[in-house]
Amino acid sequence: MEFKVAVLKGDGIGPEIVGEAVKCLDAIGVRFGHAFTYDERLIGGAAIDAVGEPLPLETVDACLRVDAVLLGAVGGPKWDDPSAPMRPEDGLLGIRKALGVYANLRPAKLYAPLADACPLKPNRISDGLDLVVCRELTGDVYFGEKRRDANGAGHDDMTYTVGEIERIARRAFVLARGRRNHVTCVDKANVLETSRVWREVVERVAAEYPDVRTDYQYVDNTAMQLVINPSQFDVILTGNLFGDILSDEASCITGSIGMLPSASLGDGKLGLYEPIHGSAPDIAGKGVANPIATILSVAMMLRYSFDLHEEADTLEAAVERVLDAGYRTGDIAKPGEPHVGSAEMGDLIVKALGV
Ligand code: NAD
Repeated sequence: MEFKVAVLKGDGIGPEIVGEAVKCLDAIGVRFGHAFTYDERLIGGAAIDAVGEPLPLETVDACLRVDAVLLGAVGGPKWDDPSAPMRPEDGLLGIRKALGVYANLRPAKLYAPLADACPLKPNRISDGLDLVVCRELTGDVYFGEKRRDANGAGHDDMTYTVGEIERIARRAFVLARGRRNHVTCVDKANVLETSRVWREVVERVAAEYPDVRTDYQYVDNTAMQLVINPSQFDVILTGNLFGDILSDEASCITGSIGMLPSASLGDGKLGLYEPIHGSAPDIAGKGVANPIATILSVAMMLRYSFDLHEEADTLEAAVERVLDAGYRTGDIAKPGEPHVGSAEMGDLIVKALGV
């Protein structure tokens, strides 16, 4: 089969890690007889430098014409001036909005060979850790009206419509059916009106999925439960603000930010796939960044945008085999342990794919 992928390398380590992920995607193509073609476009600081804006129209147009979008990361000290009229991160919010990708899936999985990297005591993770945060991505306080009033106070409007909640809830329940049939709905319904609507709608949608166990937690409790008993979670369904915070918390329990992929999906098959980490300017250009988060994002692309489930499983298994064999990039190596660079890690995973 043939698939078109828009490639937005972005800034910092973006080009390095995306290069390795493309290498792995090509290897999957060779092994399974698929053709992947690439349309490379600008985003973030690189786009500001080249054309004066973080999300050129041509980038949006190109992304709307492909089957999936692979993104590295954006941002860096060069563009950090808070008084600048535009920032690289505007490109990120803009492309999510333009693609209508309202569901952000962030798996957090603890790989057995990396268990030492988990900051929790071993007894807290004896049942393993394999959860997905299903975060609403295009609503909530991030997209509400922002203003300062005559007294200088700041206001951010927090709004959720019934339709916005319904569609993300359905995503979460469908996702849970492919996993361990359990959704935890996270909100702040004891205080916030948006959360009360959120909970009512989720209860209604949950009734359509009687085979999925649903429970409800307040976000402050979930923040605690993730540290005390993370194995209880399968799919965490939550809004944009709470999801932003909880998914970072969930990811740090797995040990390294360099390992964690994400998918952002809308109603159709087109999805945006990116590692959860940033552009890591401190290590950019050194060839040492861990490409696994981006490679696992490609596995999510195979599964969610291309419906190539065997190919996705095969790529994930190749990553696990390389870790099992003891290979590490610097971020996941123990102090003093030998480690490999980005390109060598990419090559090892390609080799583990048998290509
Ligand atoms: P970061 O994720 O870039 O880096 C945090 C730490 O993790 C750094 O020490 C970095 O070296 C390390 N790290 C990150 N990814 C790694 C990888 N693949 N391999 C090895 N080590 C890795 O977060 P930050 O330092 O807060 O932000 C740096 C820039 O990235 C900022 O401009 C920020 O706005 C931007 N950012 C972008 C995104 C995105 O594009 N989605 C997300 C977060 C931050």
